[in-house]
Order: sequence, then structure tokens, then C-alpha cells
Amino acid sequence: MNFVAGSTSFSENFSTSVAIIGAGVAGLYAAYCCGLAGIDCVLVESLATSGGQCLALYPDKRTYGIPGFHDTKAKEFIERLSMQCLCYPKKVLFNHKVENILKGSENAFLLETVNRQLGEKFNVHSRYVILATGIGDMLPNIPQTISGLDKIDKSSDFIQHSCMRLDLYKNKRIVVVGGGDSAIDFAIDIAKVAKNVMLIHRRDRFTCETSKLDIVRELENSGKLNLSLEHNVSELIEEGEKRKVVIKDKNQILTFIETDHVVFCLGFIVNCSSLLGLKKLGLKIENDLVKVNVDTMKTSVDGFYSAGDVVTYPNKKKGIVQCFFEADRAIRSIKSEILGVVLCNSI
Ligand SMILES: Cc1cc2nc3c(=O)[nH]c(=O)nc-3n(C[C@H](O)[C@H](O)[C@H](O)COP(=O)(O)OP(=O)(O)OC[C@H]3O[C@@H](n4cnc5c(N)ncnc54)[C@H](O)[C@@H]3O)c2cc1C
Repeated sequence: MNFVAGSTSFSENFSTSVAIIGAGVAGLYAAYCCGLAGIDCVLVESLATSGGQCLALYPDKRTYGIPGFHDTKAKEFIERLSMQCLCYPKKVLFNHKVENILKGSENAFLLETVNRQLGEKFNVHSRYVILATGIGDMLPNIPQTISGLDKIDKSSDFIQHSCMRLDLYKNKRIVVVGGGDSAIDFAIDIAKVAKNVMLIHRRDRFTCETSKLDIVRELENSGKLNLSLEHNVSELIEEGEKRKVVIKDKNQILTFIETDHVVFCLGFIVNCSSLLGLKKLGLKIENDLVKVNVDTMKTSVDGFYSAGDVVTYPNKKKGIVQCFFEADRAIRSIKSEILGVVLCNSI
């Protein structure tokens, strides 16, 4: 089954009960919940495929914490999730970026979208909105203090920021930078195909699940993985075929590591400001994240809901299971609004 965009081109506007913005895990599952609740929806996604971060940033990495998907690569998980969810929306608009959201008459929202391939503008009218734009425009965090960054050719594949293609790393020397879950996940997966992996972290311990540390130790003992703790990357050098990562310890002592690729796993810089109109609508936004009531996933604007990585509430944790929970809650809240009943939260 193919989930990429066809030659979608529209001249007319489109009306629906629920407009879902973003076809990552949260948006996909919101579409599924709409289907189960008998509510019609339109799903709008700026990329050519569904899957959001999972497919765009770590398709070959195994996903953790999803019941029933043990040892499953992100791309396999997304394929199955897409198959489950994409049959429900009455329209799926891939390659359509929502550029602006306005509140029109009779409490309806107007989403102004543009087709990224064809440049055509297209409007979606809806009574409810689910904002599921995740981390928005995804900019990898590569510290700009590293020397030599500006000298690396733009077309060079020296610097990587996600595990897009494990085959790129086959039998190569790889440096992975970071100390969180994604750095450890990538290092473990890459170590299985690479000649060797050097994992560099600025602190003396990792902030990942304890069970993963056992795998790291095993790979270290078998010589597939080397650790350089309490080191920072200070310079990147690319001279013809020769590529080096220069690291520095707390005593300013430099070490030169010859490598083929350096993979930065230091998170992403969030940019949700590309979506105009959110603040103008009256949405409460904190550190680029949308504030919601976790009981209902309602934002501060009537009829406007949000789910997934783009939201914030006390003790919010980012993750796939959280996307399911939040999308389900949002659609149940909308259904109760449509039916004019108060949600029953009894246990
Ligand atoms: C490296 C890495 C590893 C991870 N590993 C795990 C793991 O093992 N287990 C786990 O549970 N979680 C993991 N996570 C977290 C998990 O991937 C996220 O919590 C989840 O994917 C968030 O989904 P989302 O739908 O909220 O957002 P996203 O996946 O970011 O999807 C948002 C979608 O909205 C689209 N969009 C954005 N703006 C617009 C717009 N204006 N118009 C139209 N479309 C728009 C984007 O193109 C994107 O497709 C990991 C995250 C990273 C970065």
C-alpha cells in the first residue's frame, strides 16, 4: 500500500467537521478515532507522506514503548498505522502546508493551505481543528560553535542528523554525538552494520533507559562501539576524502578522530512559528508549544484542539503512546461537544 501523495490538485474549497493538521502519529490516530466516532474529517500534511518524525527522521530505528510493536522499525510501524488510519478521512491532502488559520463566521475555521509542489492555494473550512503539527519545521540541533561547519560543502554527506539510511553506514567509521535515547538508539543500530562507532557525549553518563546501557556495554566489549564521555565536538574537518571530528575534553586536550560520517543526535530546534494565525486566534503558546487542558485536549480557543508533540501540559512526556492517548481524548471531547453531552470520566 502506498501512502505517498498522488497528483492532488483542487480548485474548489473543502468543508468538513474536523480538520486535522499533520499526519504524524497524533494526526493519523486522530483520523482513526474520527472514523470510529463517525465524525467526518480532512487530514492535511505538508510532506508527501504520512508518518511525521518517525518516517522523516528515524525510519530505520526501532521504536520503543509501543505495546505490541516490540523490535519494530519506525517505518514498519508507520506503514501499519497508516494502513489502519488513512482509510477514514474523507480527504487526505499530502504536500499541502497549512499556512494560516482564521476563525470565520458561525464558529467555523478557515485553513489556508498551499500545495508545495504545484503552488496552488486551497482552503479547508471546518467546525473543529486538531493541531497535530508535532515539532513543526524540523531543524536538527547542530551547535554553531563547532569550528569548520561553514567550510563543509552543502552537498557533502559528512554531517548526518538522523538514521535515514542504515545502508549509508555499512562498513564505515561513524561518530555519533549525543547522550539521550535517540543517540543511544542510533549508536546501537548503526553499530550492527558499521565498521565501528564512536559515541561522544559531553557528560559522564547517559540519560537513556537503563536496559539500553546493557546493550551499549555488550557492543563496547565486542569492540563494535567505543565511548568518549566528557568530550565536546570542537571542530569538523573535511579535506577531499579525509574527514575528521575533533573532540575536546575538560582539560582542553584535543583528539582527532578519522571518520566517514558524523551523526548529530542532539535533538531538534522547534519552529512552530511558521504557522501563522495561531497567536492571533488567541491560542496560549508557551515555548513554542500549545497549552491544552489534558482532560479534554482543548486549547484556549473554542473548537480548537491539539495533540502530540506540539502540546504542553503539566508532566507532558513526548512519545508515541502519548500521541494515541491525546488524539483519542481530543476526538472524544469533540464528539461530546457535537452530541451536547459532558464527557463521563468515571472509572
Ligand atoms: C530520534 C527520535 C527517536 C524517537 N524514538 C521514539 C521511540 O522509540 N518511542 C516513542 O514512543 N517515541 C519516540 N520518539 C518520539 C516520537 O517520535 C514523537 O513523540 C511522535 O512521533 C510525535 O508525533 P506527532 O504526530 O506529534 O508529530 P510529528 O511526528 O512531528 O508529525 C507532525 C506532522 O505535521 C506536519 N506538519 C507540521 N506543520 C504543518 C503544517 N503547517 N501544515 C501541514 N502539516 C504540517 C509535519 O510535516 C509532520 O508530518 C522519538 C523521537 C525522535 C526525534
